Formats: sequence, C-alpha cells, structure tokens
Amino acid sequence: MKRDYRMRILSIGVIIYILAAVTWWSFLLVKKNREAFDAKERYYRQDMQMKGLAGSEAEFFESETYLRLQKTHRRQQLMIIGEGTVFVLSLLLGIWFVNRAYLQEAASARQRRNFLLSITHELKSPIAGIQLAVETLLKRELLREQSEKLLGNALRETGRLNILVNDLLLSAKLETAYRPHIEPLDISAMMEEIVREFQAKYPNATFQLSCSDDLPPFAGDRSGLSAVGYNLLENAAKYSPEPAWVAMSIQARDNNGIRLEVADRGVGIPEKERRRIFDKFYRIGNEDTRQTKGTGLGLYIVEQIVLAHQGTIAVLDNSPAGAIFRIDLPFLKP
Ligand code: ADP
Repeated sequence: MKRDYRMRILSIGVIIYILAAVTWWSFLLVKKNREAFDAKERYYRQDMQMKGLAGSEAEFFESETYLRLQKTHRRQQLMIIGEGTVFVLSLLLGIWFVNRAYLQEAASARQRRNFLLSITHELKSPIAGIQLAVETLLKRELLREQSEKLLGNALRETGRLNILVNDLLLSAKLETAYRPHIEPLDISAMMEEIVREFQAKYPNATFQLSCSDDLPPFAGDRSGLSAVGYNLLENAAKYSPEPAWVAMSIQARDNNGIRLEVADRGVGIPEKERRRIFDKFYRIGNEDTRQTKGTGLGLYIVEQIVLAHQGTIAVLDNSPAGAIFRIDLPFLKP
C-alpha cells in the first residue's frame, strides 16, 4: 500500500514536470519565433529602403513583402500554441484514462481480498462448529438433552453453509445463465412465509409485513424473488442493533406493477456507498475490523434479479435512522 502511495506521488511529480516542460518549451518557441520575425522584418525593411522600394516605414508596413512575412509569422505562432494545447490535452486525457483504470483495478483488488477474507471466515467457522459437535458426540456419553443441543447447533451451521454455497452458485448463474422463470405468483403469501421464517430465526427482533388489499395479480420468478426477500430481510436484521425492527411492505403502483419495500432502523447506508453496495463482493468498511458476517454477494444477487424482472431498486434513508430498500417491479407476462 505504501509502495503504491509512493508510486502515485512519483507519477504525479513526473506529470507535473512534463506539463511544466511543455509549457516552458512552448513559451520559448513563441518568444524565439517573435525574435526571428523582428530580425527578418528589420532585414527586409533595410533591404527595401536601400533598393528604394519603400521610402518610409508606413510604405514598408503596407508592402506585399511585409504582409506575407506577418502572415507566415501568425501561422507559425498559432501552430505552436495549437499543437502545444493539443499535446497537453491529449496528455491529460491519457492520464485520466490511466488513473481511472488504476483506481478500478485497486478497487477490484481490494474487493477480491475482502471476498477471500470473508469467504474463508464464512466457511471456516461453520465447519469448525460442526466438527466440534461431531467430535463431542463421538467422544462423550451425553444426556439426550445435551446431544440434541449439539445436533441443533450443527444443523444451524449446516444451514449457514448451505446458504453460502447457494449464494455462490446463484451469483455465478446470474452472470451467465439466469433467465427468470415468470409464473403467476401470490407474492404476499410468499413474503409472509419468509417473514415468518425470519421471526423464528430472530425471536427477539420484530418483523412486520403489510400488503395493500388491492394488489393486482402478479407474475415473477419464485426462487429469484424469494432470494430477494431473504437477502433484504437478512441484511435489515444483521445491520441493526438488537432487538432489530424490520418492516416489509408490498403496494400496488397504479397499474404499473408493485412496490416492495424493506425498512429497518439500523446503521443506515451513507450516501456515497449507495451505488457500490450492489457491486459483487463489495462490503462497506474493512474486512480486518468488521464485526458482521457476510460475503458481499447479497445485494449483488438482489439487484441482478430485480434487473432481470425489468425492475428498479433504490436505497433511501429511514427516519429517524436506518435504511429503506425500495424495489419497483413491473407486470410481466407469464
Ligand atoms: P453482506 O451483507 O454479505 O456484506 P451485501 O451485498 O448483502 O453483503 O451488502 C453489502 C453491504 O451493504 C454490507 O456489507 C453492508 O455494509 C451494507 N448493507 C446492506 N444492507 C444494509 C442495511 N439494511 N443497513 C445497513 N447497511 C447495509
């Protein structure tokens, strides 16, 4: 990182030097050109006066020779200034492209590093949990109650692994072969089921669901839209202080489709992060210091599924705190 910083400072120094050198050389060229013009002008004036072709200065300045000399001089001055400007602009454009590519590459290297760190952690901790449970069950004579507790833990960890692997598979599929299978869908019943699962998973949290009565018949991809619901509810609970409060609502949008919102009262999402959180593997903050678990795949999956349904997704501030994820989905034909 320090080396990168030094390289950047060095490149900025070199760029400033090149720009200063070009400006200085252009200035010198213009000056020398002017001096050459003055010298030529003096020479022609004396020459014409000696030959009796121009008696006075005014006559010389009106002569064909002087006008041609002046025209050539102006053309040369314009050429120097024009070419200097084009050179500087091309250089600046080139620098801008290189810098943009450098920043993109640095961001994606950071994301890859974050992803590796988070995925390693996400894989290791459930495996360690399952291993511990199985080893304890093998080595010790346990009461039925204790065995059940251990098996319950192992089952929960298996569920975590399952979700992670599914997310990885789905995100790979979204890049290549995902086509939403559009079928008539009772979206309120589907989301009600998911909300119930979350309430069981996070018993201390409050999950609310409100659906407007006038919801028109809707069609969409069942597994894709349930992945959207799971990921948004999981994030809302995960990024809220306990006990979390999460509200999902589904409304009709005057013959334009439906609007699904998930609101929480958690940490919220800063304005400048609102575009990047949908990037693959992107997580706000630094993996070395972050407390929450995750891979940065959830919102990428959500956005891709929404786009495949020709919908839109936006992030808003909730009041007094937290975030609202708003998804607008159009009516699609099954
Ligand atoms: P993950 O949750 O696995 O980190 P996501 O793609 O689901 O990945 O989210 C990307 C980032 O967006 C998260 O790391 C988190 O910082 C931020 N984020 C997502 N949802 C919320 C939310 N409801 N409140 C605050 N921050 C959120």
